[in-house]
Amino acid sequence: MLREILIPKGWPKVTQMFVGIALENWIRYALFAGIAWLLAYLLFKKRWWLRKIIQRDPTSSDVRREVKYSLLTALIYGLVGSATIVLARHGGSQFYGRIESHGWAWFIGSIGIAIIVHDTWFYWTHRLMHHRRLFRLFHRVHHESTNPSPWAAYSFAPLEATVQAGIFPLLVFTLPMHPLAFFAFMIWQITFNVIGHTGYEYHPRWLLNSWLGKVINTPTHHVQHHEKMRGNYGLYFNVWDRLMGTNHRDYPSRFEEVTTRSRHP
Ligand SMILES: [Zn+2]
Ligand SMILES: [Zn+2]
Repeated sequence: MLREILIPKGWPKVTQMFVGIALENWIRYALFAGIAWLLAYLLFKKRWWLRKIIQRDPTSSDVRREVKYSLLTALIYGLVGSATIVLARHGGSQFYGRIESHGWAWFIGSIGIAIIVHDTWFYWTHRLMHHRRLFRLFHRVHHESTNPSPWAAYSFAPLEATVQAGIFPLLVFTLPMHPLAFFAFMIWQITFNVIGHTGYEYHPRWLLNSWLGKVINTPTHHVQHHEKMRGNYGLYFNVWDRLMGTNHRDYPSRFEEVTTRSRHP
C-alpha cells in the first residue's frame, strides 16, 4: 500500500521495484533503530545504563555517519534485490507463491534454515572482509563505529553492503521459501542486528555458563568485536566462532564484567 502511495505509477516497472525494495529496507531500518534509540538512549537510559557495554554515549558524528551509510546500504539492497528478481523471472527461483503447496511446517522450517544459512554466510564473508587486502575497501566503514549505536546496523561501505545483500539471491536460488517467510526472516535479522549494535547487554549473568550461551550470541559479543577489531565474527550464533576458535579470549570476562556491575559497589 505504502509503495502505491510513494512510488509514481508512471515509472518503469524495474525502477518501481528498485525504489520499492530500497524504501522497504530503509523504513524497516529506521523504524527498528529508531525504537531502539528511543528506548535505550532516551526513555530508559538511566535505568539501563549499568548494562551499557561501553560506558559512554556514541558521538553525534558517529550517529550521522551510521545513518548516512545505512541510507546508501538501503539503495544497494534495492539494486541487488531488483536485479535478483529480474534474474529470477528468467528461471531458477526457488521461491513459491502458495503457502499450501509446501505446508505450514515447511513455511516455519524455511525461516529457521534461512537464519542458519545467513549466519554461515555472514561469518565467512565477515572473516574474509577482515583480510588485510579487503578490509579497507569492504569493512573499514563499519568499524569506524568503535562504540556502535542502533543506527550502525546497516552502516556498511557500498562493497560490504553488496556482500551483505548477497544473502537475498543465495536464498532465492537455493531455498524454497514463501515471500512472507522471507519477510519474517528480514524482521528477525533487523531485530537481532539492531539489538546487537544498540550496545546494551540484556542477557542474564548465567547465560555464558549455560548451553544456550554457547549457542547464541550476545550484544557484548558483537560490541567487543567493534572494540577490539579481532575475534567474535559471528552473527546470530556462537557456533562458528567456537568451531573455528575465533571467540575473543576476553569474551567471557567482558560479559561477566558487564552483567555484574552494581550501583553500590
Ligand atoms: Zn568486523
Ligand atoms: Zn557491527
